[in-house]
Amino acid sequence: MSHNCLFCRIIRGEIPSTQVYSDDRTLAFRDIHPVAPVHLLVIPKEHVELIASTRPEHEPLLGRLMRVAAQVAREAGVDGTGYRVTVNQGADAGQQVDHLHLHVLGGRRLGGMG
Ligand code: AMP
Ligand code: ZN
Repeated sequence: MSHNCLFCRIIRGEIPSTQVYSDDRTLAFRDIHPVAPVHLLVIPKEHVELIASTRPEHEPLLGRLMRVAAQVAREAGVDGTGYRVTVNQGADAGQQVDHLHLHVLGGRRLGGMG
């Protein structure tokens, strides 16, 4: 846990969020500024800053995050029409929050990559 991290504060319940899934290691909630009809964030409850800072011991957690992304997409009803799972890393990707998160985007035809 990181004291001032926005997503750690969401995990601790200090900042409200619309949660759609929670287990012992992961949390999923609605993005506050959705860019698609379905826009969910899937995060580890452990404060991992960046995809670039993950280590071999994070591999099971990374696998869990991906599977939770597929589950919440299915529960949001977009597995038939399709969806995108994205991680933004660093300035060129527009990363704003330094707590690893997967974006799950769907519900409309998404634009091209990049
Ligand atoms: P990124 O640009 O990949 O770092 O994405 C950060 C995401 O967090 C953005 O899509 C924001 O809209 C979202 N966000 C910021 N604050 C909140 C919040 N309090 N609750 C839910 N989502 C948030
Ligand atoms: Zn954090």
